[in-house]
Amino acid sequence: MIRQAAFENATKMLKGGLHCHTTRSDGHGTPEEVMRLHKANCYDFLAITDHCNYNYTNYAPETGITIIPAMEIDINMPSPGNHCHHIVCIGPTKEDGNGFEQDQRFDSVDIEDPYEAQPILDIIHKENNMTLYCHPEWSGVSARDFENLQGNFAMEIWNSGCAIENDMDTNAAYWDELLIQGKKIYGVATDDGHAMDQHCVGWVRVNAENNINSILEALKIGAFYSSCGPEIYDFYIEDGVAHIRCSEVVEIKMCNFRVPYNLITNPDNTPLTGAECKLREGTGYVRAVIKDAQGRRAWTNPIFF
Ligand SMILES: [Zn+2]
Ligand SMILES: [Zn+2]
Repeated sequence: MIRQAAFENATKMLKGGLHCHTTRSDGHGTPEEVMRLHKANCYDFLAITDHCNYNYTNYAPETGITIIPAMEIDINMPSPGNHCHHIVCIGPTKEDGNGFEQDQRFDSVDIEDPYEAQPILDIIHKENNMTLYCHPEWSGVSARDFENLQGNFAMEIWNSGCAIENDMDTNAAYWDELLIQGKKIYGVATDDGHAMDQHCVGWVRVNAENNINSILEALKIGAFYSSCGPEIYDFYIEDGVAHIRCSEVVEIKMCNFRVPYNLITNPDNTPLTGAECKLREGTGYVRAVIKDAQGRRAWTNPIFF
């Protein structure tokens, strides 16, 4: 049996946000307001990822929210056909080896070739930060512009800001383009909230203790799933069959190869709380997506086999 790491000895799944903006860059809410909103929505941790401005500060400690040290780096590609790379960086405390300073500023960089971003990523990794590749659809890139960048632990598969403001919702399609090539990269739902109504729509649920190092370690090994509402309780493979258990949904999709996906619905509209799917030969991963009656999705990370 192979169980996806999120559900291995899972007790409490922490709720967290890995991408949001405040008045420290171009967000509408102050850091205090944004943190309080997340507290009201039962978040356990949050990365405040203002553009090119590193943050460690917990602006509203009374919320009890753990702040993950973070920022978002902007790399622009002015030539036609490419728009930009945006990269969220998350890391430990300074005491645990993070090389960035509070309020350290970075110039947004212009590059010609998309892979000129690699040395920038290498510097971020050298400063002991993990990198999350952001919103490829909004960035106007194709998968070939970022699929060979090295060291991104994850990429965004849902971004509330892009979905709400620009009706852009195909980031998970890019994910399968990478996965089908055998690349091991996890998928993350985020908000990228700028306006207040873009916060607290997409989040991760992490199988970790509520401290920075435990959360980072769990993210690094894919011990989390992403959601805009529904909950996932288990996801595993046994004897060539993938199994999922979840809160009540109307649709479960198992992605075991690009097309056709295995789409499971109930003809009489009774809710589903799980499904099974026989895996096809010759594929290297399976992941599942569930959708509730309000159209909100949740995504497992892949099981690689
Ligand atoms: Zn961005
Ligand atoms: Zn952003």
